[in-house]
Amino acid sequence: MYKNLVDLFKENERKGAVGAFNVHCFEMLPSMIKGAEELNVPVILQTSLGTAEYIGFEPLIAAVKALAETSSVSVALHMDHCKDIEALKKAINCGYSSVMYDGSSLPLEENIKNTKEVVEYAHAHGVSVEGEVGSIGGAEEGVVVAKDAAMYTRPEDALRFASETGVDALAVSIGTTHGQYKSKAKINYELLAELKVKLGDTGLVLHGGTGVSDEDMRRCVREGMKKINVGTELNKSYIEVVSRTFTAEDVTPLTSLRKLLGPANDRIKEIVKEKASLFKL
Ligand SMILES: [Zn+2]
Repeated sequence: MYKNLVDLFKENERKGAVGAFNVHCFEMLPSMIKGAEELNVPVILQTSLGTAEYIGFEPLIAAVKALAETSSVSVALHMDHCKDIEALKKAINCGYSSVMYDGSSLPLEENIKNTKEVVEYAHAHGVSVEGEVGSIGGAEEGVVVAKDAAMYTRPEDALRFASETGVDALAVSIGTTHGQYKSKAKINYELLAELKVKLGDTGLVLHGGTGVSDEDMRRCVREGMKKINVGTELNKSYIEVVSRTFTAEDVTPLTSLRKLLGPANDRIKEIVKEKASLFKL
């Protein structure tokens, strides 16, 4: 079934966090859903605005809906980090079931005002919204936030933001970094506990999941994270596998592309399964 984040959070209540996996190309879609089906967990497929434009809003949404409708698990399609309100309205009108407005680089006041506008529009269309307070460092889609410019989320800001905007989910900065794959993040658990108490029903979201050790991942889930994003690991692994298959000695211009992409697609399914099993309580 095709659903939004609120539905997925409800369905997954007391079962852990829902995995949100960044789609980088069309081929990843069926593999991600197959991975979720094999574990019998709901799944969030998310794209950047760049990926939505690359694939095309309509074909992307039609494919996700078609896959979701015949799937045994619940599926949401979420627009990840987007600073463009008009683009978010387009995503909502075209059929995304969830969106993220990222105003984390703006002054809090302005972030609240813009997020509220997105929430009002989205909720009127049955679409859920994720916001961000504090700044998660690192590089994503070429947007670089220097590590020292990244800021922990201040619990009082998060509380004010959540109550004034009415967001369904909130990305918080507790020590993870986008694009981190060579080392592991140091999580600020004290801050996570304080945020959990202050935010109650608003689903906490962990970004930069690739850079979190398995042990920390399990602990973040136990301590209340509701959505966990994994992007870099998928991109990186796809490149690693196709680099190998495309350069194999027996490859000729007549080799079926399917044979070269298949192993990368299979790897995506395995990553979804590996990560999603860490998210289960
Ligand atoms: Zn992120």
